[in-house]
Amino acid sequence: MKNWFRYLSKKQKIQMGMTLLLMGMIVLMGYWLQPKGKKIASNRFNTRNSISDIAPNLGVTGKALARELKLKLDVPKKKPLNQLGIDEDRLRQAIEHLLSHKDTTIKYYLYFALCIGALFYILILGRPARSDIEMRKNWYPRFPYIMILLISVTACGFLLGKSPNPMEGVVKVFKSMVGLYPDILVKLMALVFFIFLVVIGNKIICGWACPFGALQELIYSLPVLKKIKKRKLPFWFANSIRGGLFLVMVILLFGFIGGKKGLVIYHYINPFNLFDLDFESIGVLLMIGAVFILGFGVYRPFCQLVCPFGFVSWLFEKISFNRVRVNHEDCTLCGACIRACPNEAAKGIVEQKKLGADCYSCMRCLNSCPVDAIHYGSVLKSKNKMGSGLDNNPILK
Ligand code: SF4
Ligand code: SF4
Repeated sequence: MKNWFRYLSKKQKIQMGMTLLLMGMIVLMGYWLQPKGKKIASNRFNTRNSISDIAPNLGVTGKALARELKLKLDVPKKKPLNQLGIDEDRLRQAIEHLLSHKDTTIKYYLYFALCIGALFYILILGRPARSDIEMRKNWYPRFPYIMILLISVTACGFLLGKSPNPMEGVVKVFKSMVGLYPDILVKLMALVFFIFLVVIGNKIICGWACPFGALQELIYSLPVLKKIKKRKLPFWFANSIRGGLFLVMVILLFGFIGGKKGLVIYHYINPFNLFDLDFESIGVLLMIGAVFILGFGVYRPFCQLVCPFGFVSWLFEKISFNRVRVNHEDCTLCGACIRACPNEAAKGIVEQKKLGADCYSCMRCLNSCPVDAIHYGSVLKSKNKMGSGLDNNPILK
């Protein structure tokens, strides 16, 4: 870290100050623009109210409240709840759960600020201008990364609660399609925002700002189980499970099988509940426990195997403007970046696979190359050409 800072140019130091200032201004703007409405108390409603009385105040549709109360979606919405067999406890739990999904708008600004900081760090600051390839081990120090991850877990997670988060960004759009949210356009805009943060820097929102992604990154960064970490989750396997779960979610949500609409499988295993300390089902607890245990040896198990946003953003990262790039004319196929990468992303980049594994912009590969053939930068810059001899290289087999 000391050697990194010492070799930054004057221009880079000014850029660092400007980046921090910009991040602060984005967060302040978010605070300033945050709607100042009164918080809704769950005891404001009782079972003499009907679904139609309560749902609009919670920003959900009658169907969503009915589902939360474990009633049929087409239950009469104007009937008092006590006539539908709902008691006060059940109503309270349902309201509290729906309120926990209410978006805190400042969090969007925080996500944006963290992603901007991350992008500037990788693009401009990580590699000191006054150092050469021999000093590459000092490039991209982990300390600023760890700091941003900690901010994400504490502020975007425990401080501001689970919503909004990228995973919900996807799920809420689909829920709106079956009438569980009244405002599909608003949900679509939230998803577009998260996808924008995937496109400006390769999955930068997942790599740096998503609180559950950050938590997994921190756990994996602990210097333990180094031998196990050398074995990577095969991408075809992980992505098949993740894509399969996504398909099951769509089938059950739209009632294509079983005929009952509105079932969201992710609801029962949503690890973001951790940030509200709301362990509403055994599935949630098991998922969090499994990720905590697996996460010491497997890179981001939830992101790679389960997360629907992980799946959707894997498709969109293919059009990211800024990403890890290999200059294939200089690359000697030594495999150093492939060994440094915690999953199969670097392998896919070196092999020029069209549908390689997710790259989380974690920077581990960026100081590994002895011939300086790996960079993080814009796709609009110089055009790479593939070197020869790939097929004969034992590392890529
Ligand atoms: S893939 Fe991981 S980092 Fe990305 S949204 Fe899902 S949990 Fe968060
Ligand atoms: S180490 Fe792998 S995941 Fe991390 S930035 Fe490099 S290619 Fe992407």
